[in-house]
Amino acid sequence: MSLNVIMMGPPGAGKGTQALLFAEKCGLPKISTGDILREAVSEGTSLGLKAKAVIDSGELVDDVTMIGIVRERLLKADVAAGFVLDGFPRTVSQAKALDGIVEELKKDSLIVVAIEVPDEDLLRRMTTRRVCQGCGRNADPVEAKLLSCPKCGGDFSQRTDDNIQVIKERLKVYARDTAPLLDYYNGRQTFCLIDGTQSPGRVSEMLLEAIKAVSRADSAVRTEPGQRIERE
Ligand code: AMP
Repeated sequence: MSLNVIMMGPPGAGKGTQALLFAEKCGLPKISTGDILREAVSEGTSLGLKAKAVIDSGELVDDVTMIGIVRERLLKADVAAGFVLDGFPRTVSQAKALDGIVEELKKDSLIVVAIEVPDEDLLRRMTTRRVCQGCGRNADPVEAKLLSCPKCGGDFSQRTDDNIQVIKERLKVYARDTAPLLDYYNGRQTFCLIDGTQSPGRVSEMLLEAIKAVSRADSAVRTEPGQRIERE
């Protein structure tokens, strides 16, 4: 059985970090649509040229483009045992298209993890976020004081969309276009909410427990949908 996970949450909730930790733990590919777009921007491809202005404004790249990118990626052989999607879907039409792709490619149920963090924490996290240009990891709070990544030596820098005006716009766009997805997925057996205000290590443990619980529930015992993992 494959493990097909979607990591949801507002910008700055820690989706990327958690998707990476979970993907590494389970030996699955992490597919980040934000990373795919940023790579296209740095390579100067036609997708990158189109995406740059959109990313820097805090808005979303159009659904048709994003659905095409994800469909193509999910056709690759390395997702046979599963995948961790970070940053997709971001709209109800993307979610509907993803359901269609899962059905078309005869994949196992999607496990939907939504990480919850209050807006004031998101603002603080994003304005202080530093990302390694080498390995793409976010610096932890100690590393963020350094100029370069202790793991790969790459330079730490700030994302072009991590400035206060764009962050506010991204939060607005999240509330308008992406938050409705919580209702879209809420009735599913495989939906779980995680308290993302804890340390990354603790969030990662809760997430692992929650994914185990919902996948067990999906394949055998039926439990309450929208299971909530509370802060300790
Ligand atoms: P992220 O790294 O996930 O925060 O994404 C950075 C930016 O890329 C977003 O603010 C959007 O402009 C764009 N983007 C990433 N994923 C998507 C998506 N699924 N749909 C539309 N735009 C996206």
